[in-house]
Amino acid sequence: MYGVLICSRCGTVQGVDLSHARVDCVRCWTKIKVSRAKIYFSTDSPQELAIAVRRLAERERGQETPFIISKGTAVRGGDVGNLEAIEATIAELEGEKGQLTYMDLSSALGLTGATLDKMICRLLAAGIIYETGPGTYRVV
Ligand SMILES: [Zn+2]
Repeated sequence: MYGVLICSRCGTVQGVDLSHARVDCVRCWTKIKVSRAKIYFSTDSPQELAIAVRRLAERERGQETPFIISKGTAVRGGDVGNLEAIEATIAELEGEKGQLTYMDLSSALGLTGATLDKMICRLLAAGIIYETGPGTYRVV
């Protein structure tokens, strides 16, 4: 089961796996106790989760500062450091291929290993992509 919550420290709306006792905020890395957090929406569907994250984030916008990826996270071919630019890149790739694999994301983002895993977690939590199967993703 997945849920949507809002970080009490930075106000970022994010999707989490409710089976975890604690999660790290995707933006400020605050440890969030899942059992104590207000869950705005819950679902078993990764796609519904992603859509719910986006809806709530849109509703909350105005109180929220833009979602900027921490320094040091570079996207190949440029100095792009925000999720919107990454979203545009992977949405274009998905348009060509129909769906995205772990390796597609690796080559599109120029990331590998733990850095790529962390980025995928962020993209999932931010409602930009959702998992369609083991190692396959679609843009919401
Ligand atoms: Zn936070």
